[in-house]
Amino acid sequence: MANNLMIGISGVRGIVGETLTPELLTRLGTAFGTFMRSGKVVVGRDTRVSGAMVKHSVLAGLISTGCLVIDLDVCTSPSCSLMVEELGASGGIVISGSHNPIEWNALKFLRADGVFLNDSEGRELLNIYYQGNFKKAKWNELKEVREDRTTDERHISKVLKTVDVSLIRKQHFKVALDSCNGAGSGITPKLLDELGCEVVKLHCTPNGLFPHNPEPIFVNLQELCSLVKKTHVDIGFAQDADADRLALVSEKGEYLGEEYSLALLANFILKKKRGVVVTNVSATRAIDDIAAKYKSKVIRTRVGEVNVAEAMKVANAVIGGEGNGGIIDPRVHYVRDSLVGIALILEYLAESKKTISELYSALPEYHIVKQKMECPSEIIPVVTKWLKQKYHKAKFDWTDGIKINFSDSWIHIRPSNTEPIIRIFSEAKLQKTAQKLSSDVVSYINHLLKKQ
Ligand code: MG
Repeated sequence: MANNLMIGISGVRGIVGETLTPELLTRLGTAFGTFMRSGKVVVGRDTRVSGAMVKHSVLAGLISTGCLVIDLDVCTSPSCSLMVEELGASGGIVISGSHNPIEWNALKFLRADGVFLNDSEGRELLNIYYQGNFKKAKWNELKEVREDRTTDERHISKVLKTVDVSLIRKQHFKVALDSCNGAGSGITPKLLDELGCEVVKLHCTPNGLFPHNPEPIFVNLQELCSLVKKTHVDIGFAQDADADRLALVSEKGEYLGEEYSLALLANFILKKKRGVVVTNVSATRAIDDIAAKYKSKVIRTRVGEVNVAEAMKVANAVIGGEGNGGIIDPRVHYVRDSLVGIALILEYLAESKKTISELYSALPEYHIVKQKMECPSEIIPVVTKWLKQKYHKAKFDWTDGIKINFSDSWIHIRPSNTEPIIRIFSEAKLQKTAQKLSSDVVSYINHLLKKQ
């Protein structure tokens, strides 16, 4: 099982009522305020019931260091990122357990460009946290907390600037939306309304009571799939609790998979403008096939939004993202944003005059198998050695964990930095090939675990 508290360079995650205590949160807020050198800090949260407790604990810490705090309250993670830039802040804190179940909450830290801290910045913040050498502002150095409620409006207007609004409006699309009662519940219907869509809402009450696990994967979206079928809408959209990830359901009620959110949009964007696509090593190979068709380059990074974002900036990429449904459009900002993903998909439908299942079936076909299992770190070198022997003729990629590339398939084995688990992703033209690649590794690890 996962640990109940994870404090790592990419953020802090814990269970409310157990490990994620106000004391810990205030200390983290104080550490971040010190790291921000008492600058302007934007704070936003998703709809989780624990959000108010977490926010007030974090604010106490931030205020104590002399930071000027801008409290956005409930907003999506990409909206919070956008506000850091819009308000010229030094950084921000996103309070969201993202796709994790209701009992979890988490902090993620943003820098001045609205992007999450990278590894070295995260390490610097952790050093401050562990050393406890915090800035203590005197009474006359304490600043106010300002509330700002312009987030949705600013975010929507920035997203609308990237698409042909009148073209989309003319189609009068009918769409279904499952926001899982999360942070996307309020802003997403407003965006869809601006785009002239009729919206069939499913779980769009921003009360943080998740009707299903918020991860936008097949097993959690059955209700959306049947609603799409029943209401004859053009497309179904699903977001996780902080609305950075987007999954699609076709007009036939079929779950298209988060992997294909980015693949579809890479196909759309590259057709209009050739350029670099950035994604992580675990995302579908369909992206490479699509880029090759448009004589464009794909850069593969380590898993993690910040790694993709930083590579996109350097390469001046036209689109990027991750296989988990995270779309990054640099015209809006360098963070995963389901709202920009939705607007672009609708523009794609409008321009192509095709249905989403027609657009989807024209893409290169791959089957991906995603698994995770417990695996103590001391076993990993043994697994690595076994893989090197078993696949000695194949091409190994060591960007992040072990990726082995074959002519029309691959497998990626990645140990977690925060938990004693290993993630195994495999992909092939045929489902059974992908399954076999993956199950061979799983059985070998199980065999090692039994011997322990
Ligand atoms: Mg998320």
